[in-house]
Amino acid sequence: MTNFALTIGDLHKDLISKKYSVNEIVEFYFQNIKKTDKRLNSFLTLNEKAAIARSIELDKLLAKKGKEIFIDYPLFGVGVSHKDLFLTKGLRTTAASKVLENYIPQYSSTVVNRLDSAGTITLGKLNCDAWAHGSSGENSDFGATKNPWNNEYVPGGSSSGSGTALAANFSMITTGTDTCGSVRLPANFCGVYGLKPTYGSVSRYGVVAMASSLDSIGHFARSARDIEKVLKVTNGKDDYDSTLDEQNVNLTKNKLRIGLPKEFFGDGLDPEVRKTVESAVKVYEKMDYDITEVTLPSTKYAISVYYIVQPAEVSSNLGRYDGIRYGDDRQSFGDEAKRRIMLGTYVLSSGYYDAYYLKAMKVRSIIINEVDKAFNKVDALIAPVAPTPPFKLGEKTENPLEMYLTDMFAATANLSGIPALAVPHGFTQSGLPLGFQLMAKRFNESVLIKMAKDFENETNYLPKVINNQI
Ligand code: GLN
Repeated sequence: MTNFALTIGDLHKDLISKKYSVNEIVEFYFQNIKKTDKRLNSFLTLNEKAAIARSIELDKLLAKKGKEIFIDYPLFGVGVSHKDLFLTKGLRTTAASKVLENYIPQYSSTVVNRLDSAGTITLGKLNCDAWAHGSSGENSDFGATKNPWNNEYVPGGSSSGSGTALAANFSMITTGTDTCGSVRLPANFCGVYGLKPTYGSVSRYGVVAMASSLDSIGHFARSARDIEKVLKVTNGKDDYDSTLDEQNVNLTKNKLRIGLPKEFFGDGLDPEVRKTVESAVKVYEKMDYDITEVTLPSTKYAISVYYIVQPAEVSSNLGRYDGIRYGDDRQSFGDEAKRRIMLGTYVLSSGYYDAYYLKAMKVRSIIINEVDKAFNKVDALIAPVAPTPPFKLGEKTENPLEMYLTDMFAATANLSGIPALAVPHGFTQSGLPLGFQLMAKRFNESVLIKMAKDFENETNYLPKVINNQI
């Protein structure tokens, strides 16, 4: 019986001590996927042949160079799976939509290339809500993904496969996109870490666009340190994405101040979620962090603003899939994509632009100002990721508005461009994952990572997986 590592640091130790080879861990992932993923449906495409060939190459390199190899390849031997929005040269990329069912990209996204150059092995492409529209994974044109902890529940979306594949131990890290919570929610519902970096810190080049003023590329991992390692590789200037800035992080204070935004703790919050966040606050108090209440009064408008700005941008971005330049016929769009194209076209049309889009953009500015003001007082905010723990498959599919409300606590970070990290923290009485989110100033990912590491050390809590043995 071999116990495979769950984090990058442990993987590198195990490879050096020859507990197993890169090839063995990659073979393990595929065995595990074949055994369990029929039920979970987290993969849309496997990259098995190429991944195994690469693992053999990496084992040869390791035999030649020894642990020096980890300097040039900080993510050496790390099995990664990508949300199926990330273009992968020669490997099918569908955005989980029938429109792109047979699309084979000619090039890879910057993030895929950077991870590749750092030594990762691409294992496959992950299911998600089609075009990243959704909060539960049920909008995929290729069937819903299941929550690995209880298969009757949703894993959260839209990066549903990215959360499931980590909790089911089909990969060591996964990628996702977060336009309004799509990394943080599935991380939270599957019990792993999920980072939505600052808008403009990780290149979006080669990733299917949803709403361009909100889209962030994100990472899933099983420790705060792994999130940091991956972000070090993926962030930073890229000539192909003009929104990218130089990282400008400074972390001079020793004692960090945390704000509790009171609007995130209203009446509708599930008691187990509330207890989880409150117990995390106690842990930080114990570690001598300063805790104060702050206010973000316009939080209640965030989801309304999002559902005007986002469909407007979606209606424009999906225009390119016309069946001539890309993909199959527009008839293949599912109901949710059609709904957003219509909503977006409506709010941008003459006569309605001022009443909806322009007004939403003004409220967006107010939200940004409120967030900036809060960060004059504190270094980070702590809040729930979603108002409830994972919900049952089918529970919200009949009512899109109810589904949209799942993201009421996610929207603030996307509308204001700040980074946010979902941190896992225990399980409900019925065995479903719980956690909380931390938010910081733009480009202050290091604050989030420091806080998550402190929390990990203090609580000794590391995400669990459903299988790590053969
Ligand atoms: N759930 C949100 C939506 O459906 C967010 C999706 C996302 O972050 N990609 O629009």
